[in-house]
Amino acid sequence: MNFRETKLYSIVKAKCPRCHEGDFYETTNPYNLKKFDKMHKRCPVCGQDFEREPGFYYGATYASYGMTVGFGILTYLLSTLVFKIDDIHFLYFFPALMVLLGPVFFRTSRLVWINLFVKYDPAANKS
Ligand SMILES: [Zn+2]
Repeated sequence: MNFRETKLYSIVKAKCPRCHEGDFYETTNPYNLKKFDKMHKRCPVCGQDFEREPGFYYGATYASYGMTVGFGILTYLLSTLVFKIDDIHFLYFFPALMVLLGPVFFRTSRLVWINLFVKYDPAANKS
């Protein structure tokens, strides 16, 4: 299995979880603040429904929480052990970092969530 067939490819490249070809979001730039959260209703390549049911992406908050906690622990360890930043400065620095990375975490958590429910189908993009 090469990287292109993994769920990680779909998440990192923001591609359709089924065909790994069509774009998941309307814009590839997470810092286009007017459109960063706009998703296609269906995959432009294979037609996979991205809005599976009303409120489907409420579950993405679980993915977002896990990613934020993991990133926080990693950032804390890096900043204190490698960069020798003391705890009080970390408490100023980390929230600002999370605001800056907010659009990236938002988009990634939705991709993680839909990838839990949709399997990769290499035949989907050949129709
Ligand atoms: Zn697709």
